[in-house]
Order: sequence, then C-alpha cells, then structure tokens
Amino acid sequence: MRALLTSLLLLAPWLVSAQTDTVRSAFYQTRFGPYNPSRTLACDLLHTDLDLRFDWTKQQAAGTATLWFKPWFYPQDSVAIDAKGFLISSVALIDTNRAKPTTTPLSYAYTDGRVLRVKLPRTYTRTESFAIRITYTARPNELPKTERGPTERSSTAGATSDDKGLYFINPDGKQPGVPRQIWTQGETEANSCWFPTVDTPNEKMTQDFRLTVESRYRTLSNGQLVSQTRNPDGTRTDRWVQTLPHAPYLAMVGVGDFAYVRDSLPPTADRKGLEVSYYVEPAYEKNARGIFGRTPAMIRFFEQVFGVPYVWHKYSQMVVRDFVSGAMENTTATVHNEAVQMDARQLVDENSDAVIAHELAHHWFGDLVTCESWANLPLNEAFATYAEYLWFEHAKGPDEAELQRQSDLFQYLSEAETKQEPLIRYRHADREDMFDAHSYQKGGLVLHLLRKVVGDEAFFASLKRYLNTHRFGTAEVANLREAFEAVTGQDLNWFFEQWFLAPGHAVVRVEQQYTPGRLTLQVRQRQDSLGIPGFVSAYRVPVLIDVWVKGKRTRYDVWLNQADQTVTLPVAEQPELVLFDADYRLVGTVEHTRSRAESLFQYTHADTFRARVESLTRLLEPGALTHPDVVQTLIKALDDPFWKIRQMAVSGLANYTGDAVSVVDNRLRQLAGRDPKSAVRAEALATLSTLRNPANSVVFKQALTDSSYTVVSVALVSYLKGKPADADAIVAQFANERNGSVLAAVADYYAEAADPRRYDWFTQSIGKIRPTERYEFLLAFGKYLLLSSQAIQKKALPTLEAIARNDASPYARFGAYQALGLLLDLPGVSQLRAAIRTAEKDAQLRAIYKQMGE
Ligand code: ZN
Repeated sequence: MRALLTSLLLLAPWLVSAQTDTVRSAFYQTRFGPYNPSRTLACDLLHTDLDLRFDWTKQQAAGTATLWFKPWFYPQDSVAIDAKGFLISSVALIDTNRAKPTTTPLSYAYTDGRVLRVKLPRTYTRTESFAIRITYTARPNELPKTERGPTERSSTAGATSDDKGLYFINPDGKQPGVPRQIWTQGETEANSCWFPTVDTPNEKMTQDFRLTVESRYRTLSNGQLVSQTRNPDGTRTDRWVQTLPHAPYLAMVGVGDFAYVRDSLPPTADRKGLEVSYYVEPAYEKNARGIFGRTPAMIRFFEQVFGVPYVWHKYSQMVVRDFVSGAMENTTATVHNEAVQMDARQLVDENSDAVIAHELAHHWFGDLVTCESWANLPLNEAFATYAEYLWFEHAKGPDEAELQRQSDLFQYLSEAETKQEPLIRYRHADREDMFDAHSYQKGGLVLHLLRKVVGDEAFFASLKRYLNTHRFGTAEVANLREAFEAVTGQDLNWFFEQWFLAPGHAVVRVEQQYTPGRLTLQVRQRQDSLGIPGFVSAYRVPVLIDVWVKGKRTRYDVWLNQADQTVTLPVAEQPELVLFDADYRLVGTVEHTRSRAESLFQYTHADTFRARVESLTRLLEPGALTHPDVVQTLIKALDDPFWKIRQMAVSGLANYTGDAVSVVDNRLRQLAGRDPKSAVRAEALATLSTLRNPANSVVFKQALTDSSYTVVSVALVSYLKGKPADADAIVAQFANERNGSVLAAVADYYAEAADPRRYDWFTQSIGKIRPTERYEFLLAFGKYLLLSSQAIQKKALPTLEAIARNDASPYARFGAYQALGLLLDLPGVSQLRAAIRTAEKDAQLRAIYKQMGE
C-alpha cells in the first residue's frame, strides 16, 4: 500500500538523493541468498473447522480446530501442522463416518513450539482422508522474540511491522477513546499463531469458523454468517462458513464494537446479488458510504476488465486500530488501517480509493489465483497495484491514472538507489523483504509495459486466461507467461526474462540531430549492468517517438534492442519537438535535453499528463520567472483541465514579481475561491500569500469558510501572516477543530506568543488529531516550548517522551522526537532522545534516524 516511507520522505526530503538512474549490480543481494522453494506438500489440508473464544485479560484465544487432510500423492503415516507458540491440550483422530463419531488420541511431538508433528495410527493413501482435532490455547504475545522481532526490513509498500497473527486492542478497556478490538493479520505465515494449519500460500482449504464473543460485540470472518446463537453464559456464537477454498494466510477474524453499514451489488443477468458491507467505528457510521461507497462500482468494473466474475460470497471491509500494515485482502473480509476513516470534510481533500481498489483486486489476483511461494509475490502485488491504475483510468480518466503511475515510478526509482532485485526472487533472505517497491510499484509498471507490448485486447484476454486456468489454485511466474503466449501466439520469454527475472531498469540517453529530410536519434542504453552476466545487457522494447513539424504530430513505433542504436526517421523539416518514449511506458529513466522553446511547445501541443508535467518541470528551473514566455505558459497552465498541472503552475508562480503580477494575482484569487479541487485552492492561497498584496487579506479571510480543511489551514496561516487586528478572535474560532493541519496552524500562532496559559490547550489538542496527522502539530508544540520557560519545558518532557515512545503512529513518534530536539538545552534530553531512538521498533523510522546521522 501507499508507503509510510513515501510520506515520511515528504517530511524528510534529505533522504532523497539526486542520483536515481544508475543500476548498480552490488544492489542485487538476493543472488547470494538461500534458494526458497515452494513448500513441499505431503498432506493436503482440505477443510478447517474452528471454535474460538477469546480471553481479553490474558490476550489469548482458546481453540478447538478440526483439520481434514488427505495425502497429496505419496502415502503418509504422519502429518506436520504449523502451530506457533500454542499450549496444546489434546490431539485426536476423529472418525465422523460412523453414526456416532469416534475419537482416538494421537501421539505427537511439539518440541520447537512451532510445528506440531502428529503420528497417524496407520498409513493413509491419497484416496483416503482423515480428520485431526486439536484443542489448544493461542498465546500471540508470548511468542519467542525471533518470531516477530522487527528486523531492519525494507521500508516500503506493504511491509508489516509485526507478525504475531492475533492482536488485542485496548484489552483491559482502560485506554480512553480507544475501542476494544480483536483482529488478525495472516500474511505471510502468521495465521498459524492463532489456529493450526498448513501455513503456506500453495495450500488451499475451506472453512467453518465459530467465534464465541460477549454478545455486545460484532464479529467478521471469511465467507457467510450462517448463524448467531445466544449462549446461556451471556455470550454469543457466530458461525462463518466459507465453502470456496483459499490459502490459510487469507483467513481472518475481527471482533469489536463496530458499526455495520450494509451496501449492495444488485443482481444482473450474469451474477447474483452480493452483500457489500463496511465495518467502521460507530463515530464513522455516517461516513462509511463516503469512505467506501465506490466499492460496488469497483466490483462491477473489475469483473468486466478481468473478464472473470467476483466468485466469493460477500465483500466486507473492516477498519481497525493500530493495524500492522496498510490493509489486507483477507478473502471477503478486507482489513484497513484507521487512516481510511475520514469524516465528510476530510473526504473533500482525499479518499482511499487506491487502497480500496487494491484490496478488492486481490480477490482475483491473490485470493482466487495465489502466488505459490513468497518468491512469486508480484503475482499478487503487481496486479493489485496495477488495478489501482486501471480503476483510476476508468473512473477518473487517464490523467489521474498517469499521475499514479508517475508516483509509482518515483517510488521504485527511489528504492532502486539502494536495492535492485528481480521481481521474482527465489533467493530472498527474508520473505518480508518481498513486500517492497519492486513487488508493488515496479511490478505494476512492468505490467503496464507488457500491456503496451502486446496491446490492450491481448493483455486483458491473457489476464482472463490466466485467472480461469488457475482459479482456486496457485501460480508461478511461468504460468503468467504461458497465458500471454497462448493468447498472443508469441514467445514472450524475452520479456519475462528482462522484467520479471532480471534486476534493474532501463537508463536511456537520447541525442537528436536534424539534417534536411532526416532526423537522426542516437539512442544509448546506459544501465551499468551492461555486460554483467545475469543482468539485462540491452533492453529489447518497443517505444513510441512523436515528432512535430509545423504543429503536426507524426508517431513512430521503434524497437530498441541495442546498447547503442541509431534511429533514422524521414522528417521533411526541422521539427519543433521530438518526444521520445511518448507514452512514458519505459520502466526506467530517459535523458533527452530540450531547449526552452521545445519545452514551451511541449506544454501547448502534447496532450498527455506526463508530457505536460514534464514540460512544466523542465520550465520551472531556478530563475524561470524571469522569462516572460515561461510566465505566460504558467498562466495558461492555470486553466489546465487536470488539477495536478494547475496546482503545479500555481506553485511555480510563487514569489513572482514581474510585469504580469496583477494578472497572476487576479487569476489566483479566482482559483482560490472557485477551483473544484481543494489542493489547487490551497496552493493558490499559498502562492497568493507570497505575492504580498495586502488586499488579499480579504481572500484569505473568506477562504476560512472553505469546506476543505487543507484550504482552511493554509488560509489561516496566510491570514495571520498579515498580522490582522482580529487575529486572536479568528484563531479562537479554530482552536477546537479536530483536524491536524488546522490545529497545527493555530498551534503555530500560539507558539509565537508562548503564553504559559496555553500549555493545557496544547496537551489536550494532541489527542484530537488522528495519529498520522500529529507531526506538524508536535513541531509547533516544540516551538512553543522552545520559547517558554524552563519550568514549562520540563513539565512537557514526560508528555513528549510518552508520544515519542508509544504513539501508535510513527509520524507522531517522529514529531515528538523532533520536538524534543528543540529542547536539547535541558539536561538529559540528548540521552532521552538516544534512548527513544534505540527503543524504536518501526524499521522505516529507524532508517530515518539512521539517515539523519543521529
Ligand atoms: Zn496488496
């Protein structure tokens, strides 16, 4: 999912170095790792019956599990079951074939506390099945540290921060404002921390789960809720049945005080109606449709674009506290972290459609067809990531989709500065390393390139064939290639070798020369892997080249296939612009200089987002605003149909003082009040405030009533900059808001006055802000303390320490740590910060501390 690190990078820009285009073979670490095969399956797990009740006090679960097996192929006289950290009470063979089921105790070994080795009373062949009943206690918090200690793992995409499988939130009910919840997270192999299973992605089973909970709680699990039974002791037992097989890592249970919001997907000619539902904290009940409401449309869209119906029996999404990752595609029971929970005003600024589409798409790529080993994880994650692109392309148009793809490219290139691996990595050292910007972002980019190589029709027909061939089964990367080859009739080994099995990306340099009648392009591939065995030497890839002459575009389709290549095109006159890789399909970087005139031409003539954004990026060099033609183009771009371009043009005009300043000023005022996109309105206010026209005070004041929190927070900061007479009164109007950016603006104002009576306001406001949005506020708090007396500073230390150590969000912890950095004059603070750094468990935050050189 959208990575924490990406957002932290915005806060910590010193982490991004300029060098992004060099392949370094030294980054290919998994060459040397141990080979990770798919798990050998001696017995096939067919079905799991589970009775589970929960002990909040001990944070344990008491379970009775019955597992149905049959030998996979070879006869077996024993079976190995994953069961991590259990107390085992009994293990027995169940014979349900008789009128009265019989139970035979079995002998077993459980020496390492991780694998239960059960001896069968005789040898079974593959035509026979048998059932084993295990009664046990799951103790997720007592698992040995090695099982879940956060190592310094890769810092992007879908990484999890823990792997104990079963989580109790606010178990003793003593944390004010925090709901009591129980939820699970199975991927990769953590579900065997709460039920015995064969915990590997190449196993598939059906389920019958009975969850016994206090009757005030709601439950969620995979499949359908078939009954709810009240028990004499005041508890209730919910029975969830999933009759379609899936991999054990996709099993899930959730318990707590959730509001249940029912949506639906009406029946059509080719599909029955489907329950679509959302489980959110009660306070967000009225926002559930605002948050998740596009889900039914997404299901319909993916059915159509993948060509395969949604096969599962419902689709629920649950939001939980303190989740260990972004979200998880448990079959029919997706879990999201609390960041998706937004109120109506927050939803004006942003929504979670990307992650919602991502988890839903996994119900085809991941849940229906599962990667057979973690080495093949891109078969899950690349598709789910690319599905975000497909949804945006469909629902919001190509510009929005391309914006997403551009950000994926940046994320991959940023990871590629220190890590370059094949997408499919049989020699990974730690399976968690697979959840990175390769499997997700680069994977999505490679699928897009594949789509361009084979064409849309063949691409989607191949996906359909792949899904249908392997439905309810597993796949490795060769299976994907075979589907594409069967559909297209082409050999595609070369493509899969370059992009799935070799590390790196293309680094292309283009130089152009015009002689009458002919355009010559020198195209050089300069990835430094050239010539190193195991790497791609020269990519073989078709690219588009657009050439404009007299305002008219001609498009050429050219295959790159050599490290040094001369491309000659018949062009009648000196072209105004040559756009190499015109649809930006290459996974990698292209260096091709442009004159200012060419970039100006590119903005007005190229029709894609990527070409427009590239031209503005080139034009916005330092000193750009001294060129009237650049300013004119930026003014034109204020009317661009796509908001991101408008926002970029607006921000590019910051501090402008030239001749067109009153035109700019006027236009920005209009955008500030009327642009449909809040990000553009906010940017317009921010740029206006750099123009220092006192008359704009009215505009800022007016924007304080905007529906968007982002706009209001910028308006507030901008308004206060002018030191208006009513500043105190205006600030007071916003001091009780619940939004992080607005409160940060208030805090900034209060910080400067450093009034000791504001101390309580600061400490009480922190709790009102969503943990992920506390960073800025905490910095302002630090500023307030810096200007305050030593007595107040000392008083704040325990508060800051508690946040820096214990806040659920790394953003908040980082903010409090930074605030402490402003108090280094106090005795002991430097040691305290060192202790906080050492105790930090989040790998990404640890990496940031390291990068800061502290
Ligand atoms: Zn995913």
